[in-house]
Amino acid sequence: MQLLLDAPELQQPTPPAPTDAPAAPDLRTYDLIVINSSAGKDSMAMLAYVADQITTHGYTGQVVVFHNDLGVTDSGEPIEWPGVEALAREHAQRYGFRIEILRRAKGGLWRQLLGERLRFMGERTRWCTADQKTGVGMKHVTRIVNEIRAHQGIADRPVRVLYCLGLRAEESTGRSKQPVLAEDTARSSRVRTITRWLPIHGWTIKQVWDQIKTAGLRPHAAYSWGMGRLSCSLCILASVDDLMLAGALRPRLLDDYLRAEYKLGHRFTFTLSIAQIRAALDVARMELDGEDTAEEVAFLHRITREIVAEQNDLRTGTYARTGLPKRWSDEQVEERTRARVDQLVTSARRAIDLAAAATSTDSTHLPMQ
Ligand code: SF4
Repeated sequence: MQLLLDAPELQQPTPPAPTDAPAAPDLRTYDLIVINSSAGKDSMAMLAYVADQITTHGYTGQVVVFHNDLGVTDSGEPIEWPGVEALAREHAQRYGFRIEILRRAKGGLWRQLLGERLRFMGERTRWCTADQKTGVGMKHVTRIVNEIRAHQGIADRPVRVLYCLGLRAEESTGRSKQPVLAEDTARSSRVRTITRWLPIHGWTIKQVWDQIKTAGLRPHAAYSWGMGRLSCSLCILASVDDLMLAGALRPRLLDDYLRAEYKLGHRFTFTLSIAQIRAALDVARMELDGEDTAEEVAFLHRITREIVAEQNDLRTGTYARTGLPKRWSDEQVEERTRARVDQLVTSARRAIDLAAAATSTDSTHLPMQ
């Protein structure tokens, strides 16, 4: 089963690595460097950059790569893109780093969604990251710190941990405000100090891809299929285009999320439901087959209008207090609904085309469905 793609363009002569990267802290002052890797592009660029810095600084302490496995749905579909774990291993092994695959002891994301949280995560309530990634990672830092204390006999001072994350300022306003290097006082203690480092915080996407090319690391095939991000195939933070394409490439996973949405009675995001993604993809597929789409378009229009109307209701509450204009008229609601349906169907057509191209390039690249 081939899940990864050798991207030929990535094996051509490569440009130099970014020259305006911020200076790294003195790595020799740390006992342990943890590099978090989702196997996505930012993780790859960060891994390559940190590996370079480790060589440059002559760091000889422990280095561990953490990769979080978020598990599978109840039908067995991986939450993340298939193949990411193997790819994270491949990247870590390229530098001879030890890698640990971490899983939440009480269950993966699906179990947490349907058995504990009972609501999808939101932009400001990202329990998925907090519980499935950060919380699990910190438990393992505790374990490794205890190993270091025992084996290296460090008793008179805290073990110094440099915790590296591939977050970039460009991704969101929230991320742009995060410090590049700061002690995580909440997670530090008498036995450990944790310094959080964002080595590629100021990088652009171009710099990220340049670094990956320079390092000769292999990206996941999903990028060549047209995805802008990796991680969870259906991520609440993803763009409509990415979600639509992920849905086209992974219809079984999409159906699992659709069932979850109905079961929980809670929409995937505030502005977008999985039901809309599925309906738009149905319309685009039927168009391609020359079928009559009137019924499906009407369904998509109805569920979209419900969401627009809900947003309109909020304008008389929270939004009104912030000084926004008052309620949209029925005509404005209809206008917005039509525009949204058009946007979704356009995105779905693109997704169907890209998914078909991915399949025709090599049928073994779409083994997950
Ligand atoms: S990729 Fe998205 S859905 Fe998955 S853990 Fe991260 S924020 Fe949550």
